[in-house]
Amino acid sequence: MNIYDTIIIGSGPAGYTAAIYTSRSFIKTLILTGPQPGGQLTTTTEVDNFPGFPKGIIGPELLQNMKIQAERFGAEIKTEIVERVRREDDKTFTIVVNDTISYKTKSVIVATGASAKVLGIPSEDQFRGKGISYCATCDGFFFRGKHIAVLGGGDTAMEEATFLTKFASHVTIIHRRDAFRASPIMVEKAKKDPKISFLLNTVIEEFYGDGVLKGIKVRVNKGNGEEKGDQGEEKQLPFDGVFVAIGYTPATSFLKGTIELDEKGYVKIDETVRPASLKDSKTATSVEGIFAAGDCTDSRYRQGIVAAGTGCMAAIDVDRYLHE
Ligand code: NAP
Repeated sequence: MNIYDTIIIGSGPAGYTAAIYTSRSFIKTLILTGPQPGGQLTTTTEVDNFPGFPKGIIGPELLQNMKIQAERFGAEIKTEIVERVRREDDKTFTIVVNDTISYKTKSVIVATGASAKVLGIPSEDQFRGKGISYCATCDGFFFRGKHIAVLGGGDTAMEEATFLTKFASHVTIIHRRDAFRASPIMVEKAKKDPKISFLLNTVIEEFYGDGVLKGIKVRVNKGNGEEKGDQGEEKQLPFDGVFVAIGYTPATSFLKGTIELDEKGYVKIDETVRPASLKDSKTATSVEGIFAAGDCTDSRYRQGIVAAGTGCMAAIDVDRYLHE
């Protein structure tokens, strides 16, 4: 069977950047794109903060450019969803796609990303990118002087709400309970901010608008919403934008039992798990020969440029792993 020097699983900025570096170093590279070629950024419209594009660039175009750049140096790209990664006794890896398709490689870069959790209610898809956003750092700038809502009661919601006050005229944090999952210090900070107010025990039922988002329909519960007979009160609230901040899911479930993941499913690459031979390699996972980059390792920064940077690091680590 044809053996690759490296197989990159995932095709966001981390995956494509890794591929640009490996294939340009004559490392025989295959990218397996996953279910959404190009990753999260292909679901956004304008990307304003990726360096090198002074006028901004449309997300899908940015990723298409990265793909073309990786192909220019000879990276192969296939649209496949990986089911399993198996380490063989001879230290190579078999990447299993299904019962009939698998690939052989000497090293692996996991760059599968993470996705923002969605509410999953009707009308959410309709206004995605047209008033509904999942990333304040990416899209806050487009909501200058607007009244926006942030959904969620965790640290991300508090952090995004505080960040968004730079742009918005007012930010309302809407949370389904009256107790927060966020750390008290972050809740206090948000509470002290005159531009932030809270709407608790409030469940989003529907988004409405006319092509662009105009507001949300909610049910405000008297108690925790689970009490018998608490039907709550329906309200229609106008907003110019809604940031959904209810958590992230790294796309790593297929790696359970293969490499170490943290309790939320992020790939561990800290020095406590790195094999002794790779202790200085900041992208090494718990298994020698498997490296990881981008949002699947990162619950903190979650930015395309960070993913691209760590993709480059993983490629350099693979180069050294293969040749040292
Ligand atoms: P999280 O802690 O899991 O909180 C998610 C929030 O969204 C919860 O309040 C949850 O409500 C709510 N939620 C979940 N599904 C919902 C739904 N379908 N409808 C309405 N609300 C829903 O996620 P996170 O805030 O993204 O934080 C993830 C991790 O990153 C945490 O460990 C956090 O500490 C960390 N983080 C740290 C920082 C920082 O330190 N600067 C910043 C951001 C994130 P319930 O509470 O009712 O379940």
